[in-house]
Amino acid sequence: MRVGNYVGRFAPSPTGPLHAGSLVAALASWLDARAHDGQWLVRIEDIDTPRCVDGAAQTILGQLADCALVPDQPPVWQSQRSSLYQHALDRLIADGAAYPCGCSRKDVEAALAAQGRPHQRNAELVYAGTCRNGLRGKPARAWRLRVPAGIMHWQDRRLGIQQQDVAHEVGDFVLKRADGLWAYQLAVVIDDADQGITHVVRGQDLADNTARQIALQRALGLPQVSYLHTPLVLGANGEKLSKQNGAAAIDTSDPLSALNDAAQVLGLSKQSGAIAQALDEWQRQWGTKMDAGSSPA
Ligand code: GLU
Repeated sequence: MRVGNYVGRFAPSPTGPLHAGSLVAALASWLDARAHDGQWLVRIEDIDTPRCVDGAAQTILGQLADCALVPDQPPVWQSQRSSLYQHALDRLIADGAAYPCGCSRKDVEAALAAQGRPHQRNAELVYAGTCRNGLRGKPARAWRLRVPAGIMHWQDRRLGIQQQDVAHEVGDFVLKRADGLWAYQLAVVIDDADQGITHVVRGQDLADNTARQIALQRALGLPQVSYLHTPLVLGANGEKLSKQNGAAAIDTSDPLSALNDAAQVLGLSKQSGAIAQALDEWQRQWGTKMDAGSSPA
């Protein structure tokens, strides 16, 4: 199926250079856009400034260029888009869909424990809704979305039907953090809508954010996008590769080899020769799987 107005994107956080896992998401999003005759954009997600590394965005753009993955428009930078996020938060506040929260992390943990659901390490820290009906004298620290009760269902092109009870499993989540930084969930939803993104293709580690992002799209009356979460690359220890656990940067002095590794994760065949030809062939393979109605990844 070809979609005339397809707009896809790759949205790296500049917390380090691209690693084997992030190249899979970059290649998959590029192939999906090309196979739909669509546009492919790159967005630098540099709002979580304490985690950003100087020069990493330029390194990432250079690595993409080495792999001939070139965006159709100049990249946008989230750090320059605060006014868009503020505007969205103002609308949510005006609609009663966002509210200020005065809880510290300790308060959130204590409220959860009081409900008989003590916070487990590495698990989502569920917000019990303490400030939903007012701050009760506490100063406002963060802003949260009032999440409607009920199970959210959504369709992933590879994983199939997914579901999450966001209100119970996550709670009212943060839109603007206590340190004044914009939360990833808000920025990504606003940017996807503002850039006219129709299809999100990204790593499976981000899949469990999707229900939250759809809840936010609905609260703002924004169109829902199509989602495809790509397989993760696991390290020797069986953990997913991430910049946090020190995944090695891809070596783009041999871009075809880096691309072949990424293509293999996506079930595409090994190519030799020029990069442009390899990308053409993978695009053909991707389109064939897609047109046959099977998951392209
Ligand atoms: N910036 C996020 C990351 O690098 C990806 C966001 C997204 O694709 O929605 O993990």
